[in-house]
Amino acid sequence: MNRTFCNVALAVPLRTTFTYAVPEQLRAAVQPGVRVLVPFRQKSVVGVVVDLPERAPEKVKIREINKVLEVIPALTPALIELGHWIAGYYLAPVGEVFRAMLPPVMELRTQQQIRITAAGRQLVDSTSSALSEEFAAEEIALLLKLIAKNGALLASTLEKSGLNTALLQRLARRGLVEIRQSLLARKQRMQTILAWRTEDTEKEEITPQSQEKRVRPLQGKALEKFQQQIRRVRELLEAERGPLPLPQVLKLTDLPRGAVERMLACGLLYSWEEPIDPAEDPFDVGYAPPAHELNPDQDMALKRVRARFELGEFGVQLLYGVTGSGKTEVYLRAIQETLARQKTALVLVPEIALTLWMGRQCRAWFGARFEGVAVLHSALTDVERAREWWRVRNGEARVVVGTRSAVFAPLECLGLIIVDEEQENSYKQEETPRYHGRDVAIVRAKMENTVALLGSATPSLESYHHATTGKYELLTLGSRVENRALAKVEVVDLREEFQQTHQASSISTPLRAGIQECLANGTQALVLINRRGYSWSVLCRSCGASVQCANCSISMTYHKNRNRLECHYCGFVAQTPKNCPKCDSKYVYFFGEGSEHLEERLRKEFLTARIARLDRDTTRTKRQYQETLGAFAGGALDILVGTQMLAKGHDFQRVTLVGVISADGLLSMPDFRAAERTFQLLTQVAGRAGRGELHGRVLIQTYYPEHYAIQDAVKQDYLAFFERETNFRRTLGYPPFTSLANVIVRDTNLEKAIRWSRQLSEYFSPHNGQGVRILGPATAPLARLKKEYRFQFLLKSPKRSLLTKLLAGALDHCEANEIPDTAMIVDMDPLSLM
Ligand code: ADP
Ligand code: ZN
Ligand code: ZN
Repeated sequence: MNRTFCNVALAVPLRTTFTYAVPEQLRAAVQPGVRVLVPFRQKSVVGVVVDLPERAPEKVKIREINKVLEVIPALTPALIELGHWIAGYYLAPVGEVFRAMLPPVMELRTQQQIRITAAGRQLVDSTSSALSEEFAAEEIALLLKLIAKNGALLASTLEKSGLNTALLQRLARRGLVEIRQSLLARKQRMQTILAWRTEDTEKEEITPQSQEKRVRPLQGKALEKFQQQIRRVRELLEAERGPLPLPQVLKLTDLPRGAVERMLACGLLYSWEEPIDPAEDPFDVGYAPPAHELNPDQDMALKRVRARFELGEFGVQLLYGVTGSGKTEVYLRAIQETLARQKTALVLVPEIALTLWMGRQCRAWFGARFEGVAVLHSALTDVERAREWWRVRNGEARVVVGTRSAVFAPLECLGLIIVDEEQENSYKQEETPRYHGRDVAIVRAKMENTVALLGSATPSLESYHHATTGKYELLTLGSRVENRALAKVEVVDLREEFQQTHQASSISTPLRAGIQECLANGTQALVLINRRGYSWSVLCRSCGASVQCANCSISMTYHKNRNRLECHYCGFVAQTPKNCPKCDSKYVYFFGEGSEHLEERLRKEFLTARIARLDRDTTRTKRQYQETLGAFAGGALDILVGTQMLAKGHDFQRVTLVGVISADGLLSMPDFRAAERTFQLLTQVAGRAGRGELHGRVLIQTYYPEHYAIQDAVKQDYLAFFERETNFRRTLGYPPFTSLANVIVRDTNLEKAIRWSRQLSEYFSPHNGQGVRILGPATAPLARLKKEYRFQFLLKSPKRSLLTKLLAGALDHCEANEIPDTAMIVDMDPLSLM
């Protein structure tokens, strides 16, 4: 391989890589997949080497790379290939794709071991005369030294004795030695987590008197500065992120440690210690995983998975199992089987909370002693994420559990990719690169010639369609374990309810009676509501204006505890208005019940019940989440209120009632998938009831009881829903029968946004009807988001390749006409058309 030049992908919004020259002294260390530091424009930036071209392009000035950042390439060749595929398929800038795939650049304490390989030994054993011609004396000396030391030495020892690294790399490239890297044990096992103490805004005003005696009071300029620092920390810990580890707070706010300590002393913050390593989590201690005898359905499914492994080739299997049918048990055994074949396994779950649960299952089955399981998700700190990534890369973990981006885990010898709850929207990344984790998992399985196992109780229409056409293999678990009955689902018609009671309570008479019955019997209830916050709309009765976000065309949500309005799209925060911001009338009213309000209502109605709420506001940390779920599972709570978070995955044994406050919010979304999402959510949440020995009952409140999505959910009839919805999609030409792309043109300046969408429209129009149907430009449903005005085109085609070609052309057209790269968003296979 020629190492004079390398092509580097940089995290910039451009669809190309850049060629750099490699200075002599770095040649040994440069190889595809390593990260390097290079000059770009006026800056020095990190990029990843994707290949080593023979020669550089002509007529451009070639600059040199500055530094190689890692010994072992972060990316494997397979991942480089996958990255290129993503860039091509989703029309995403290649550098941003690789940035999304990689962990943060971190200095981790590692240890490198040099081992002689079988080839190395053989070479030394063969005749010494032949050796001396081909190899330098120092190379042979090194091999002999390794043999003398039982075949392996630490790199640090070798370096001390004056080893030249180029020599080592040369031997490694010829396969005579191998370099292994392992992470050194952490010095610290615990970390300090910081949280904002009060939800009371007034507390923010620090006066010299309010500072505690322990700290020397600040005054004047210093006090002013401290107050600014407080605001910064508060923004971060309260509004943006929730509780965080101390080092991360310091890094993100750029504050000195002393300032944070002062805040702790003043009682503005509180802190606790938490193990750094999830494997040491107290919630895992003493956990014994269930290991059941498989029932005939499970056994059949596992046999088919095994048969797939035997074939030793790519295949997709769809495990369609009703809620409570024991899919997890099938996954765990499939992983076990994979490990027994000396291969590795990847398990994707739709949200962070489920990584905790699945991670624990996997650790209990496979990892406890060998630390064989790694967990990857976006809420880890940079150091944690880098550590977990390198543990996988170094071969120390052979099972990875994670959310969407874990699909890029650098496992080698991959034998199985599981995508649990494959229908979930959270697998889709809604920022560049806009990839779908499930689809990338399938492509990765194909590239690495291995098996993808998708699981769901309510498969996406796309996946089940592929199963009916034979593209995927269908595995079915038709009934709940031990033949437990599915819960009985009933509809509460809110129109009738209103006629009878003339009250607008969100809790209907039947739901109230149901909850009372639970409380009387000592069983538990789950109550689902689709929005968080107290009220999702603030209206003026006098002029009819609603309070909108300053940056988005979205109404602000009122949060009562925090006493303020928040935009759930951009995080913008405003004070709770006393008067109407438009006409100044004092008839401001809060409308549309959210989870916070529902919790309050339940507490008022059921005075003795023990109630908790589970939504994004109450589960900012893993700890809060685990405590609430732990309390509920352990019987310390009677009612759990929450958002969609409640619907997924959990296996509570004593829940006999599930109430759905309203099925209508999702159903009325302006989106062709609205019915599908409603059906899925209702089925999933209904699946939380009656999982133990007790029978379950589900009450769905709605104004549209006759809608088929609700009717089929009541009957828990996936196949009926699938038939009806498939016909609808076929007739109207929606996926899976056509390919879809959503194009958004955006800018903070309205005129520019209009001009560019017009230009793009001119480019598109001669192509309209040539195998691609182009709708738009129209104002996007979210007409303004994060200060940007948005226009939308929707492109449909029965042939995906036509779409890709047309859109690649559109991007070139933008470039040629100096429309900025970030002004046009291409969303292939969009899930949200907002
Ligand atoms: P699903 O993910 O399909 O909804 P789970 O995998 O959560 O279902 O399993 C539901 C429950 O059934 C769990 O408590 C699990 O321990 C139990 N279970 C799984 N397989 C069996 C079996 N063969 N016999 C008895 N119980 C089982
Ligand atoms: Zn008004
Ligand atoms: Zn906003």
